[in-house]
Amino acid sequence: MRYECKVCAWIYDPENPPEGVEVDTAFEELPEDFICPECGATKEEFVVEE
Ligand SMILES: [Zn+2]
Repeated sequence: MRYECKVCAWIYDPENPPEGVEVDTAFEELPEDFICPECGATKEEFVVEE
């Protein structure tokens, strides 16, 4: 499942994750201190992409 940053619209895609994250890591499995690589928003700012 893909998640979208509400702040900047960056998409977290488990099939193409940012550097430092293993492919196929679900968003829920990311560490609590994960932040949006574009704008620095916290996980709480992400929503499921529709
Ligand atoms: Zn963002």
